[in-house]
Amino acid sequence: MDSQLYTINRIADIIADRYRMVRNDDEILHLVYDTRKINEGGRSLFFALSGGQDGHEFIGHACTLGVKNFVVLDGKVDEGAYPEANFLFVDDTLLALQQLAKYHRSQFDIPIIAITGSNGKTIVKEWLFQLLNPEFNIARSPKSYNSQLGVALSLWQLSSDNTLAIIEAGISRPGEMERLQDMIHPTLGVLTNIGTAHSEGFESDEEKLKEKLRLFEKAKQLIVSPKYIPSSGMLPLKPSIVTWGYRDDCDLHIIDVRRGNYTQIIAEYQGSRIDIQIVPSDEASVENAVSCWSVLLTLGYESEVIKQRMMALFPVEMRLELKNGINNCSIIDDSYSCDVASLMIALNFLQQQNQHGKKTVILSDIPEIKGDKESVYSRVAQLIKSNRIDRFIGIGEDISAFDGLFERGSLFYRSTDEFLAAAPGIDFRDESILLKGARVFSFERISKILTQKTHDTALEINLKALERNLKHYKSKLKPTTKLMVMVKAFSYGSGSFEIANLLQFNQVDYLAVAYPDEGVTLRNAGIKLPIMVMNVDLSSFDAMVDHELEPEIFSLRQLNAFLAFLEGRGEKHYPIHIKLETGMHRLGFDEVDMDRLVQLLEATDLVQIASVFSHLAASGSSEHDDFTRSQIGRFENLSGRLQKGLNYSFLRHLSNTAAIDRWPEASFDMVRLGIGLYGIGPQGEGSVLEPVARLKTTISQIKRVSDEDTVGYNRRGRLVGGGTIATVKIGYADGYSRRFGNGVGRMMVGGRPVPTVGDICMDMCMLDVTGLEVNEGDTVEVFGETPTLMSLAQAIDTIPYELMTGISQRVKRVYFYE
Ligand SMILES: *Cc1c(COP(=O)(O)O)cnc(C)c1O
Repeated sequence: MDSQLYTINRIADIIADRYRMVRNDDEILHLVYDTRKINEGGRSLFFALSGGQDGHEFIGHACTLGVKNFVVLDGKVDEGAYPEANFLFVDDTLLALQQLAKYHRSQFDIPIIAITGSNGKTIVKEWLFQLLNPEFNIARSPKSYNSQLGVALSLWQLSSDNTLAIIEAGISRPGEMERLQDMIHPTLGVLTNIGTAHSEGFESDEEKLKEKLRLFEKAKQLIVSPKYIPSSGMLPLKPSIVTWGYRDDCDLHIIDVRRGNYTQIIAEYQGSRIDIQIVPSDEASVENAVSCWSVLLTLGYESEVIKQRMMALFPVEMRLELKNGINNCSIIDDSYSCDVASLMIALNFLQQQNQHGKKTVILSDIPEIKGDKESVYSRVAQLIKSNRIDRFIGIGEDISAFDGLFERGSLFYRSTDEFLAAAPGIDFRDESILLKGARVFSFERISKILTQKTHDTALEINLKALERNLKHYKSKLKPTTKLMVMVKAFSYGSGSFEIANLLQFNQVDYLAVAYPDEGVTLRNAGIKLPIMVMNVDLSSFDAMVDHELEPEIFSLRQLNAFLAFLEGRGEKHYPIHIKLETGMHRLGFDEVDMDRLVQLLEATDLVQIASVFSHLAASGSSEHDDFTRSQIGRFENLSGRLQKGLNYSFLRHLSNTAAIDRWPEASFDMVRLGIGLYGIGPQGEGSVLEPVARLKTTISQIKRVSDEDTVGYNRRGRLVGGGTIATVKIGYADGYSRRFGNGVGRMMVGGRPVPTVGDICMDMCMLDVTGLEVNEGDTVEVFGETPTLMSLAQAIDTIPYELMTGISQRVKRVYFYE
């Protein structure tokens, strides 16, 4: 995140007790904390944060990226090892970052709107931005940067051009809001709503609300709905309170909400009747719009101006999507805002998904630059260069005017139309393409020609949620325990190299797949992590060794065959993984094989044991705990016998997801994480895990049926008293089991769960949508938030693993990173 210039010397004055300075006047533009997200090392100040990985361990790496300035814990680094670096020593690196943000914020005497609440924060922030943008030069939190760290980085973006800031604040634990309020020091507060999201850290909803309200203690005005405040005594004393809601004592008193082509909201305010119209019709959007409306009224906007702008509000697309493109390209479609901060985030994602060596960026003008355009575009050019983008394409009059700032060979077009006319002559092939355009440039037209047509049924994979699940499991392990992630069966149905790339980026230690061809696919996509393959036979030995894949060896017969093969190829010390039988009775060496196995391994230098492992049959169920204990004992015993016979050490591992949770004593040197990564906890959906997959489809047709009519094959379906059915584009050939027919399965339509009617067909099925306002083309959720994958699996007496892996390959996978 950038800002105007500070020298390192000045920053030292603000935050450090002690420092070691070799240069006083290095200019600092960016505050960074993750070596994978450094755009311009030379002008970055690196904060070594703890929590998760310890930032102090990455100082050497940061130096190789050109970083010369560091904020570290006193006593944690060997200064002598980095003679070129400046070090500021502090007691708490996160607090130091926050102090700097606070100081920076205090330099500006402008209105600052702070938004908190359980849901809707980001939408309200983005809508307020759209609504207030004509009058103000607004700084706002990028995406949903609302944590202790995110807020500090958001504030750091404030510059002297700004006349207003809109900052989002989120908390998950008591005590956190105080620090946010101290940094943000908002002048106007908005509380969106209070729901049950993120309540883990709090005793009660009341405690959570009290904590949230702390943000507004020193604000001048606060906008709330009494709906979310159990007693007005809870409200902070200083701000003047502006209320909205259906009660007639509210300042903005909502009288009626009428839904049609538009949603009209009618209210009374200071004795007059006023109204707005918005496009979305769901209750959450109505509340978010009313929150924004209250802000504008509080700021003194005319009713007519508000009305016009509300009509023009557009939905907030916060997702960054990864799609398959033409000619084996990957398209990263970021239709969020188009500014330098969000460009940086998108470039980081492009670096993370490195399935192709070649990288292209297509960028439109950055709209509404209120300061010096040249400096903004030279920042952009610098970012493109430092991210080693192979090809840059700029679209728009402004960016074209600054073409001289970009590397030679960059292409410029004055409009999207001009680019589209030229596109057939540009060879897009085997590359990752980042598409980032401001709304007026309609980049969806470019996206359309670059992506493969998608069938309307799609499995959406939330890579950010997957990353958070990964972090959760990492946090449960001892720092020395390694992590192998199971990406077999297309990562449990969720993808292949897209997931593996994310895991590689997050530095897991090992990947495992079921069959050699799965491993070959990963290698071809540039995955460099060691990969274990579980089912390997003679016919695939060549492919294994060609692609540096490491076999699981589970029998003497297989071991002998592999040794003979290695001998023939002249390979030595090839890494293998020995599987032991401890009670699963599937694959593995039995106790009776052990002596022979040790003999064979002692006598050869063709292979090197990378690890020895076994698999628990029932680690998730307490009624089998004695059995699990006996498996652990047997594993210790058998692996110990192997270790005794060999003069080198190897990794031992036994735990799957459920065992990570339930059997920490069985973690040995490494664990094998599977289903938990995809958001399914061992005992149902664990509270902290987030669902990763959402299956959606669309409505092809809507029909009225009478009491006598039947629906579908075998005339199984009927609506008593008649009604309406919607035919949707998913059937058993997509993996939606026939067992979901006749009301067993439910899908979400327009925010409501509706049952299936009749038998499930091969490519379609029918839903009962009687009484609902739905249209052909509407999106339908098959599973995701509701119904959950788990509840759906339970409905047909199976497990989430089977449902996920059963979603057929014709269902497109769409990835997003929110
Ligand atoms: C699939 C698999 C795992 C992961 O199991 P989860 O229950 O999904 O965590 C671990 N080990 C082996 C050998 C596996 O086949």
